[in-house]
Amino acid sequence: MIISIVGGTGNLGKGLAIRLALAGYNVIVGSRIDEKAKAKAEEYSELCGCKIEGASNEKAIEVCDVAILTIPWENALDFVREHRDILSKKIVVSPIVPMVKENGFVYKPPNGSMAESIASILGDKVVSAFQNVPAKRFSNLREIPEFDVIVCGDNEDAKAVVMEIVNSIERLRALDGGPLSNSRIVECLTPFLISLASRNGMKELGVRFV
Ligand code: NAP
Repeated sequence: MIISIVGGTGNLGKGLAIRLALAGYNVIVGSRIDEKAKAKAEEYSELCGCKIEGASNEKAIEVCDVAILTIPWENALDFVREHRDILSKKIVVSPIVPMVKENGFVYKPPNGSMAESIASILGDKVVSAFQNVPAKRFSNLREIPEFDVIVCGDNEDAKAVVMEIVNSIERLRALDGGPLSNSRIVECLTPFLISLASRNGMKELGVRFV
């Protein structure tokens, strides 16, 4: 299985690329700039000791089975509209959290949730996951990521594939979060976690249900 990470050169993309490569997947780091993708892929390969490829976002989504969109929420819908023909044939994972800074971070979903907005363009193989994973801790290989990842989606087969991917990452645990409409609950947890951390002198909180 090939997993492409659109905007995989950023904070969350780095953690996903190295941990998915360590789990044995063929990973492609995507970028708007081909050379940047290749340079980051080389850097990540050295960090984890596994071969990770780099390519333009367009090439990365063309050849993958699963595309994870680790790009800013402000640009995500334009990207999805522009690449609708290719992306609607793939399983597309949204870890995207639409939030703005207004006296702390505030959740600002465009239409229900980011994941549902993407699905309104691409169809039912859109699955949401990873929104509550703190990227810097996740990309630090000295850290054991004991986080739960809530996976939401309307297509049960696509959701099962994404849950398997999550569970393949050491110490992450996938939880079935139900339909895609529940993504709004998961997305809005992230600004709350940031605020909780800030108020209580903590850093980079994730979630674990016990
Ligand atoms: P980031 O580092 O700020 O950006 C990720 C990548 O997006 C950049 O490296 C860039 O790649 C690409 N990008 C920037 N502007 C773009 C545009 N106009 N069009 C297309 N691509 C563009 O973001 P991040 O912190 O990794 O977060 C990525 C996504 O994951 C966000 O939607 C965020 O809500 C979500 N998320 C983040 C965290 C976290 O802790 N950071 C946790 C959970 C979820 P190129 O320049 O190489 O194209």
